[in-house]
Amino acid sequence: MSARVTRRQFVSAAASVAVLSNMPQPLSSFFPNQTTGVALTANPPWNEQGILNLANSPYAKLKNIPVHAVRIDTGFWASRRTANVENSIPSMGKLLEANGRMDNFRRLTGKSNAPQRGPVYSDSDVYKWLEAVGFTLQSGDRPELRAIAESMIKDVVAAQEPGGYLNTYFAGKLASERMEPRTQQWGHELYDIGHLLQGATAYYRATGERTLLDAGIRFVNDFLLPAYGPGPDKKPIFSGHPEIELALVELYRMTGDKRQLRLAEYVLNGDDRIALEKRDYVYHFCGKPFTSRTHLEGHAVRAMYACCGAADYYLETGDDSYWKTLNTLWSDLVSRQMYITGGVGARSDGEAFGEHYELPNAQAYGESCAAIGNMMWNWRMLAATGDARYADVIERALYNGINSGMSLSGTLYCYRNPLAFDPENGDKIRNEWYDTTCCPPNLERTFASLPGYFYSTSRDGLYVHLFHNSELNWHLRNGTSLKVVQKTNYPWQGVVEIEVSPSSPAEFTIYLRIPGWSGRCSVTVNGKPVPGGESGRYLPLRRRWTSGDVIHLDLEMSPQILEANARVVEDNGRVAVQRGPLVYCLEQLDQPAGVALAEVALLTDSAKPEQGFSDSFEKGLLDGVVVLHHEGAAVHASDARRALYFPSSAAAGKTTKVPLTFIPYYAWANRAPTPMVVWTPLLKS
Ligand SMILES: [Zn+2]
Repeated sequence: MSARVTRRQFVSAAASVAVLSNMPQPLSSFFPNQTTGVALTANPPWNEQGILNLANSPYAKLKNIPVHAVRIDTGFWASRRTANVENSIPSMGKLLEANGRMDNFRRLTGKSNAPQRGPVYSDSDVYKWLEAVGFTLQSGDRPELRAIAESMIKDVVAAQEPGGYLNTYFAGKLASERMEPRTQQWGHELYDIGHLLQGATAYYRATGERTLLDAGIRFVNDFLLPAYGPGPDKKPIFSGHPEIELALVELYRMTGDKRQLRLAEYVLNGDDRIALEKRDYVYHFCGKPFTSRTHLEGHAVRAMYACCGAADYYLETGDDSYWKTLNTLWSDLVSRQMYITGGVGARSDGEAFGEHYELPNAQAYGESCAAIGNMMWNWRMLAATGDARYADVIERALYNGINSGMSLSGTLYCYRNPLAFDPENGDKIRNEWYDTTCCPPNLERTFASLPGYFYSTSRDGLYVHLFHNSELNWHLRNGTSLKVVQKTNYPWQGVVEIEVSPSSPAEFTIYLRIPGWSGRCSVTVNGKPVPGGESGRYLPLRRRWTSGDVIHLDLEMSPQILEANARVVEDNGRVAVQRGPLVYCLEQLDQPAGVALAEVALLTDSAKPEQGFSDSFEKGLLDGVVVLHHEGAAVHASDARRALYFPSSAAAGKTTKVPLTFIPYYAWANRAPTPMVVWTPLLKS
């Protein structure tokens, strides 16, 4: 072990496993002779590491807590997570198998004669699924799921070559194309390995089992580092689809091996030995210095993962030029490029960002993976700053543009998440399988990791980011044990009761997030009002906390009517409805019979149209949702106005009043195919 490793108090994972005997132990050690022997940090040990292990990241103001520290037993996310773990993950495991994704690995070891199946990046779908299992196991053991995952890991690791290379596509006849510049651009080899590392890390943090992680380390240490990177003796490197960057930084956080961090930096900076055209820099969002970027462009998932990698690099190095660029890009995101759902990527063509304010509704791409990338990036920005505006984006994306990606049943998925839809156009929006099946396991890993997003620790206390029925059992950074119980019917109601119980009375700060969407809010501690709550900020509550102290938060949850910047042409004259963190939409089948959604407007004769809403919780509808009712109008165009173009003096036609029923956007397309719209015309009577 090097002096550097010793300084960072690294010890072998085996030792840390022995100490933590109360956690689930590895079922088996598959390839004991193939472990890399690379020491992994025990500070903190594997089962105390969060979604990101920021414990020793010098520029992380906030540190993650482990997923298992938060239990979610009832409420909104409990049912979504049950669908995830009982329906989605098992069915996707079977589909990956049925579609040959595992045979791709077995073929390489002679265990299967099946030909290669699936697109060039198919290995990553297996790794992302393993990550979903890893995060699931972090919330508690599930032997059946674990057995399947370990069998898959065996087959994956067996396919790795002695030199560390691992990829099922660039094998056989295609082996000669490995890591060629053109392959690096389109072949997703490093993207696959990035996902392998993320999956392996989640699995390791659940079980202490490092077989898959060692395979990733071998790829990086034995194959990549010796041959690729700066210097005349090494070959050029290009990520093609960013992902390896963030994975290398997270690996560095576990190994302390600075070479991995430096390689991430090198990839983020781009390798000018690989000749690229401008359109390549734009589309791939890599290949030129990250710090030269001035706006979001190109493939949205690539851009989001690149921003994650750059933010991870910043959290380790504090490099100002990265921070500056990250903030420039973030401003671009929230002021010109993000859907109200937190989705990103306006164009199907190239799955890409559009021009500024180009945010079409029916044509919106809004790939589930891109919304997830948005959440992941903001999680890193939040860690760097403790600034609630990043938590607002996380919540917006999570509840809307991500949540819409998985059906209520957990077995159907949206690849794209449009904000208007008409089934007559022939598009089937939710499907159980896509040949490019990036989104389903991405959604699964996100829902499985969710408890890890609820809280962070800071130097002086605890940040509360998300509200939900839950129980936290963790400790402050100074070691004070802490239990925090949230009782709430969020997101349906805005009242949150938070019981704070340190093991012994202690002075520290609870940073209570007041969401940016909230208008009025009130906060009390043990019944005593606390002033100063401001929307879009964390309210610091510093006091000597004693077991059983209660914070009572009451957020105004009345529906809001929102308009878009006038430059968003498609939303001109239209409004969106939001209640709490949830964006709402209209589905035609909830409206009176005979009313076409295309003719519907929200009708108001008041200066405060919000006051026209009534709400009701419909237990039997869409697994239980609060629906909103508001008066609307059905505008029956005159014959003249049914033409494509007509004189503006043409008779207006007839307008009749209709009651409108809005449902949460995430729950759309869970019944019979029907038109849907988020941005509804506003008609003033
Ligand atoms: Zn996707």
